[in-house]
Amino acid sequence: MQGQRIDVASEKPYPVFLGVTLENLGEYLATRIGMGEHLLVVTHPNIAELYLDSLKKGLPSFRVDTLIVPQGEEEKSLERISELTSAAIAYGADRKTVVLALGGGVIGDLAGFFASMFMRGMRYVQIPTTLLAMVDSSIGGKVAVNHPAGKNLLGDFYPPLAVWTDFSTLETLPWEEMLNGLAETVKHAVIADEELLSFVERHAQDIKARKPELYKELASRSSAVKVKLVSEDETEQGKRMFLNFGHSFGHALEAEMAYQGITHGQGVSIGMVAATHLAQERGLMSNAEVQRLINLLKSFGLPVSIKGKNPQTLIDLMGADKKNYQGQKVLVLPKGIGQAIVVRDAKDEEIMRAWKKVIK
Ligand code: ADP
Ligand code: ZN
Repeated sequence: MQGQRIDVASEKPYPVFLGVTLENLGEYLATRIGMGEHLLVVTHPNIAELYLDSLKKGLPSFRVDTLIVPQGEEEKSLERISELTSAAIAYGADRKTVVLALGGGVIGDLAGFFASMFMRGMRYVQIPTTLLAMVDSSIGGKVAVNHPAGKNLLGDFYPPLAVWTDFSTLETLPWEEMLNGLAETVKHAVIADEELLSFVERHAQDIKARKPELYKELASRSSAVKVKLVSEDETEQGKRMFLNFGHSFGHALEAEMAYQGITHGQGVSIGMVAATHLAQERGLMSNAEVQRLINLLKSFGLPVSIKGKNPQTLIDLMGADKKNYQGQKVLVLPKGIGQAIVVRDAKDEEIMRAWKKVIK
């Protein structure tokens, strides 16, 4: 088999395959679950149109059914889980059925959560088709749906059987979706991999020109950071927290805008800049390092500031972050490029100053 394999250490370890093809998944599955088993593909309509045939081509020795879920974050709901359950029953699914989550973060979270619940749990494979899912959400075993009271409020740590990444699916991905993954890649670089940051800087032009060869390397390196942090800390007691860099600020912005008119990547981009200013004020980052981050994000067209926001509203929203502990905001700050720390003593006044640096 072509491609690269990295193993995630976990209570239930699993492999991440990078640079494999959709057509070859069947061959691998035959060795893991045996031939003839029932497979349930969960995907979006447009992804089905683009990639379902290629995937199915490699699965002639399985019984394959497909569940199509409409586009959109609002699909990550208990109502949708209930509908998937009815459809799965109609297809004769049982505990031995294996779910194939073909898509981005929404599909991975939803199909993974469905797999974790259906008949007390069935196996599933993550097949990410967005850069964000490849480098971030497909790795780590977090699955969830949203609730009116908050995003990802209902979920679990439920590791997949494997992650199966075919980079060629990126060729049809809209640029805006690519930016969501690039923001997470810059995050990985800043918290854990200086080399990756230099790589992204060096190849910024080719990344924008969408050279496929480059995405293979970028995505492999970026996934490797995620695999490493998750392997060291599956349930987020320590180092996995670093992955939250830019997200406490970013989530507040996304929430303030009711998830309209701002993408996750844009929120994280501005959030990383705000957190980096706070880090600079604490002497953890030099001015040159702050500028380095800002310039890189800007070069991709990711925003580094935002207009007309009330910082106090954003601070209040940060107070509702799931990661907070005993009423204290928990923040991840970069320490130079390539390292990070978790701080639990950030004062609202310094958070306010950080917000003011990114509100124009
Ligand atoms: P996320 O939560 O990561 O944004 P989604 O599953 O909602 O993930 O996918 C984001 C959007 O990109 C959806 O509109 C989806 O249909 C589309 N999409 C995902 N992968 C591809 C791809 N490889 N090519 C084209 N469009 C894609
Ligand atoms: Zn993110």
